[in-house]
Amino acid sequence: MAPQAAQLDHLAADRERMVERQIAARGVDDQRVLDAMRQVPREAFVAPGFEEFAYEDSPLPIAEGQTISQPYIVALMIEAAEVRPGDRVLEIGAGSGYAAAVLGRIAAQVYTIERHGGLARSAQDRLARLGYRNIDVRCGDGTLGWPQVAPFDAIIVTAGGPEIPESLRNQLTTGGRLVIPIGSLSDEQRLVKVVRDGEHAFHEEDLGAVRFVPLIGEHGWSEELPEESGAPIEAELRPPARSRPPTGLLRQTAERLPDLDDPAFGRLFDRFADARVVLLGEATHGTSEFYRARAAITRALIERHGFNIVAVEADWPDAAAIDRYVRHKSRPPEATPAFRRFPTWMWRNLEVHEFVDWLRAHNEGQEPAGRAGFFGLDIYNMSASIRAVIDYLDKVDPEAARVARERYGCLTPWQHDPATYGRAVLSAGYAKCEAAVVAMLRELLEQRLLYEAGDSEDFFDAAQNARLVASAERYYRVMYYGAAESWNLRDRHMFETLEQLLAWRGDGSKAVVWAHNSHIGDAAATEMGEMRDEINVGRLCRERFAETAVLIGFGTDRGTVAAASDWDGPMEIKQVRPAHRDSYERLCRDSGVSRFLVDLRQGRSAELRSSLLYPRLERAIGVIYRPETELASHYFEASLPRQFDAYLWFEQTRAVTPLPTTPRPGMPETYPFGL
Ligand code: SAM
Repeated sequence: MAPQAAQLDHLAADRERMVERQIAARGVDDQRVLDAMRQVPREAFVAPGFEEFAYEDSPLPIAEGQTISQPYIVALMIEAAEVRPGDRVLEIGAGSGYAAAVLGRIAAQVYTIERHGGLARSAQDRLARLGYRNIDVRCGDGTLGWPQVAPFDAIIVTAGGPEIPESLRNQLTTGGRLVIPIGSLSDEQRLVKVVRDGEHAFHEEDLGAVRFVPLIGEHGWSEELPEESGAPIEAELRPPARSRPPTGLLRQTAERLPDLDDPAFGRLFDRFADARVVLLGEATHGTSEFYRARAAITRALIERHGFNIVAVEADWPDAAAIDRYVRHKSRPPEATPAFRRFPTWMWRNLEVHEFVDWLRAHNEGQEPAGRAGFFGLDIYNMSASIRAVIDYLDKVDPEAARVARERYGCLTPWQHDPATYGRAVLSAGYAKCEAAVVAMLRELLEQRLLYEAGDSEDFFDAAQNARLVASAERYYRVMYYGAAESWNLRDRHMFETLEQLLAWRGDGSKAVVWAHNSHIGDAAATEMGEMRDEINVGRLCRERFAETAVLIGFGTDRGTVAAASDWDGPMEIKQVRPAHRDSYERLCRDSGVSRFLVDLRQGRSAELRSSLLYPRLERAIGVIYRPETELASHYFEASLPRQFDAYLWFEQTRAVTPLPTTPRPGMPETYPFGL
């Protein structure tokens, strides 16, 4: 069979299974509805990347923060509206156009209204492409109905309003049926059926509890929804049969975590021994448990499974100082203590210090080539990288060092406040220093053979610093064009640095990455990936290493965290608020298991995985934490099982222990932390 035919066959089989198991088994028995559901290709209506989930038993995200309804609820509503051949039907909330397509298979004519112009246009194009000729799509406020083409035999509303709009009742034929979810935004909504018995006579039936995205319009909710409703990010949930969150399933499936110091903890991660890269996340940049767990996992992967690279979300030149220490390399005379720039506590903390000392001791017994190194992936410390390139060239090629001083001099005015560089470049109207830093990198790489004859490790270090300067120049330049662009540039640099490291350490090299969940969880499974086309290290690793990349997320409910209130502000120990009720974190807390691991890879805990697929809120605390605006500033939507291969949960956590940034009086400065 040709591959395309095989694919179609497989999709038809998925559709058949969906109809049997999710719809007919729950009691929908209108044959016309079941047949229509068998015919409409749901995979053509979901957002790109979600095709493989098209026949899952859940709603799925589409653009504008909206959803394509769960297949069962589409069938249930159409059955309740008693749609028959020959009927004229109005749908409010076209969304992807999926429900309209199902209606179009049964009724004579379908009219559908969508308030978001972009959604309306793409639904219209999609339906035309698929050959539907009896569906009219319009952009507008559906709470007003469509008086020009009324009356309708049936009206279906796929978003939840506060009450039944009069305008819609009045556009029903006598005997016409209206099906609509109504109720408050924060609590339960009811699915209601209204039948028009005569000019002014109606009766109603309650079809059960549901949860939909809000119906926004003149006879719906206002656009400024009350803050506590959490409504803009709330989505349609499953109807009664499946409405309870899967806390019981989570409780049964979660693997309890042994003590972090117990070797059994590290052994839990033996299952990832064959990975090329294991990415360990964190939900904050200042939680002790996350650092200690990552240290314990990394120790096990190094000791038991030959991992030889630890690559962290820190700047290359700072991490290079730690690397020299852990791999017992000589300390350069000009070395300055690492991690003295904001946010110092992120790496200058007791937890990292202990891990670094362990790595040094572990490496002592190894051949130099077999020692595990500690490297930085990030791009912020541009001035230290410039200094490192010049110091290196001073040693190996003083004439090139003179050229480097001149070229990097272009960036000198901004070195200490590089964020202003982009603004200066914008007003100058051209990429001011780009040519100079790119030429510097190119020439350094061209001299590879010559320079490597000295010390190849020193050459690699200098080349990485020159790469960092080139990326940082671009980063600060594009920062003024948009957050997504600079985010992508930074994550691409981190990923490319990881690739350079793996190639440099040769065949058999294996890396553990420590970075925030937002870098290591697959961006394609989050609203940042969906809405803003953000990529990240996790996404790029999956594309490059497929299933030999393992993405592990970390989460917590409450406790304390080290964070600042503003960029460059002082570190504070802040209270982490208990997680939002619609978040994955809340679900984890409600499982009643205080510390656990869940393996979310496909084919492992299939039932749990599928029950968690539908997006919920997730919290990200960075170096800045503003609990007072938490919902707006720290939560985003994601599909956890698509984002991570495994998830580690610590219900209650405490802040890292920061190390001082200036030496204690009377104490000599020791390398590498300068304490
Ligand atoms: N029927 C859709 C499908 O099959 O993809 C799912 C619709 S989604 C659950 C609800 C939709 O209602 C959203 O796309 C939302 O933008 C839309 N909506 C909300 N208020 C509306 C209004 N007053 N008029 C028209 N559409 C509205």
